[in-house]
Amino acid sequence: MPIDIRQFPCLSDNYGFLIHDRETGETAAIDTPDPEAINRELEAAGWKLTHILNTHHHWDHAGGNEALKEKWGCEIIGPKGEAAKIPGLDRPVGEGADVMLGASRAVVHETPGHTLGHIIYYFADDGAAFVGDTIFAMGCGRLFEGTADQMWASLSMIARLPAETKLYCAHEYTKANAAFALTVDPQNADLKKRSAEVDALRAENLPTVPTTVALERATNPFLRAADPSLQTAINMAGDKPVEVFAETRRLKDSF
Ligand code: ZN
Ligand code: FE
Repeated sequence: MPIDIRQFPCLSDNYGFLIHDRETGETAAIDTPDPEAINRELEAAGWKLTHILNTHHHWDHAGGNEALKEKWGCEIIGPKGEAAKIPGLDRPVGEGADVMLGASRAVVHETPGHTLGHIIYYFADDGAAFVGDTIFAMGCGRLFEGTADQMWASLSMIARLPAETKLYCAHEYTKANAAFALTVDPQNADLKKRSAEVDALRAENLPTVPTTVALERATNPFLRAADPSLQTAINMAGDKPVEVFAETRRLKDSF
């Protein structure tokens, strides 16, 4: 595995991530929730920040860009659909763009829904995807800008990544997500088991991120809109998955 990943809590429930290409030493921050926390981690690891990879324009993802750029002179890469809203952006990227971190390659995928320009960074050789606020463990981002159709397509794309792919979500929302998931998918044995595991981890203040594509396919209600048991539980048996997804998202908004 050519990249090393450091994950650390930021703000009240964000995660910061640093990724480090072993071959060249190039180091990227995935989003900039807290520049001071990011600088502490860089110092602890002995790494120098060369890149920022932004997923979307929200302040808890791009708010630290300028402070870090001033200190490190790093290159800022971010969504071309939100170029005007990403502080200090140097290189706007969209669907299919290659982003090199030294010898390590990420492919950009556009995942509109939470915001219209949201992108994720998929390091295929490392089996890692940095998914911002598109998908969470047993959850997904709120539809602040995009439509249910857009978010359903974005989530479906993530669900088609290889099963063992690790998903690095930007928030620790897992416990609350599990509580909601159990209300719309109460027959799901994998979900019940996972919910108990999450409770045990959080009782020790341990992270539930990263998750995997396989785990989300099995337990994330927002990926299970085609499942007959979930459909029945919310009185939508036989309805189109995108409509079931939209209703599940609405239910979560008022949970
Ligand atoms: Zn956000
Ligand atoms: Fe966020």
